[in-house]
Amino acid sequence: MNALNFDPGICAKCETYDCLMKCQYMDFDLESAREERWKLIRGEDTRILNDCVTCYACEEYCPYNNHPFYLIVERQEEKGIHPVPKPIEKSQIKAMAPKGVIAPMKVKEPVINMCYFPMMLGTIRGKLFEGASAIVGSDIFCNLMYLHFARNSVIKERLPKMIENIQKNYLEPSGVKELICYHDECYGTYTSWAPAFGIEVPFKPIHLFEYLYNRLSELKSEIKPLNLKVAYQRPCSNRLSPEIDHFVDDIFGLIGVERVNRKYDHENALCCGGVFEAQQRFDLMEKNQTLNVDDMKENGATHCVFNCPFCFWTLSDLVSQKGMTPIMMSDLCHQALGE
Ligand code: SF4
Ligand code: SF4
Repeated sequence: MNALNFDPGICAKCETYDCLMKCQYMDFDLESAREERWKLIRGEDTRILNDCVTCYACEEYCPYNNHPFYLIVERQEEKGIHPVPKPIEKSQIKAMAPKGVIAPMKVKEPVINMCYFPMMLGTIRGKLFEGASAIVGSDIFCNLMYLHFARNSVIKERLPKMIENIQKNYLEPSGVKELICYHDECYGTYTSWAPAFGIEVPFKPIHLFEYLYNRLSELKSEIKPLNLKVAYQRPCSNRLSPEIDHFVDDIFGLIGVERVNRKYDHENALCCGGVFEAQQRFDLMEKNQTLNVDDMKENGATHCVFNCPFCFWTLSDLVSQKGMTPIMMSDLCHQALGE
């Protein structure tokens, strides 16, 4: 049930092994990348199983969309590997379980899926989200974060019910077909993870950035250019939808913001460090956060823009200490509209 759509035949023809050759957290030459990838495919022990920090990036690196990272997570779970210490894993899985309290409710378009971030509901306001309905909570939580815990089974068990909750309780009774995903994690769940495991998604997911770009275009005459130099903290789950990245530049173009050209952006983006903290890889967390934030500062950023609330909470202290302003993308857009 819910077998991963991974094709070893594609790897057999692959000449680059980009999934491992581009990995920022493990070093391989072409021969060792080939050897270790095939050990993984055959279900044998490989250092990938313990050394992968679950940054999601190889899902983007594979030019054939063959889901190399999802296979790592499958094998980690099969072999009983726990990247996050078991007591933390257990408490998170319990605390974020569905509560079963959802009831049908009429919603109006645009419907914004706030995942499990009720504390972010205040951003759904003003002209940017005029007339919008926001939905939120444990009963619509995508659960994709359990990839970092190598617990794909939790996602497989919970996600179909979450999709049904969204469709049957909100969208279908209201005649709505599109769902705006505030968090990259939800968008990646519906456009990458669910199809990879053969799970049907009955609604059309729209990434927040696409929504913001379209809405700002409608409100173009009301935008006051911000004239800022901004560093973008790309979240790990955006690796599941790299085709969205151009919307960052498109939005910045509309609101008069320059995306600073820096080393740790685009394909070289670094994890915010939150996952390393959960995995108790504290040295790696400190090293990466320092490299990342220094890179923002040295390249002239006055602000750091986030889309993932978890990245914001993890990195904003350090960003502030370096004299930059941390801000969520939606709030930056509000500012450009004078809201
Ligand atoms: S997963 Fe993708 S990049 Fe990696 S070996 Fe297979 S085809 Fe190549
Ligand atoms: S998820 Fe990240 S750390 Fe793990 S193999 Fe892929 S690129 Fe490397």
